[in-house]
Amino acid sequence: MGLTRREFFKVGTGSAAALLLGFDARPALAQARELKIARTTETRSTCPYCSVSCGVIIHTLGDKAKNVTAQVVHVEGDPDHPINRGTLCPKGASLYQDILNDRRLLKPQVRRPGGTKWEDISWDQAYEEIARHIKKTRDETFVEQDKDGKTVNRCEGIAFNGGCTDTNEFNYLVVKTMRSLGVCYLENQARV
Ligand code: SF4
Repeated sequence: MGLTRREFFKVGTGSAAALLLGFDARPALAQARELKIARTTETRSTCPYCSVSCGVIIHTLGDKAKNVTAQVVHVEGDPDHPINRGTLCPKGASLYQDILNDRRLLKPQVRRPGGTKWEDISWDQAYEEIARHIKKTRDETFVEQDKDGKTVNRCEGIAFNGGCTDTNEFNYLVVKTMRSLGVCYLENQARV
């Protein structure tokens, strides 16, 4: 049978190949998906990546068993959400890997000036080094008055750039901390 390019992508490459070979794999693929989420708890949430705010459904297993930590097994677009109607862009479609990823760094690392390799350090060492760098940079770059003699009390040597998955609460603390240091180059995406 012939398939248009649009039909090929619509049914997915696996089932399209099956269709070309003369059988329809769509029921089997649909059943496999149903089995994957058969006993899950559905939690509706919002994709954190951009301000489109697409709705997602997070499927977890184990929520109702005693002494079991719930495990995310699947994330998909929410078909009832008025913004995205079940669709997700590639970033949103990779949300599962944002939640569970064996490549996630779990300890602080540092790359020394001139170095080519990242080095593991302890949290205590990271706090101490970050605090020392901030203090030194602020002492060296703090501007009390501008060239016209106006009091400005700003730190021009430090900038803070937040991530899209930072929560409103985290960003509230960031703004309080950075403003208290006089930092004016401050950016975040407070919407989660
Ligand atoms: S799925 Fe894509 S478009 Fe939708 S909120 Fe997430 S990043 Fe934005």
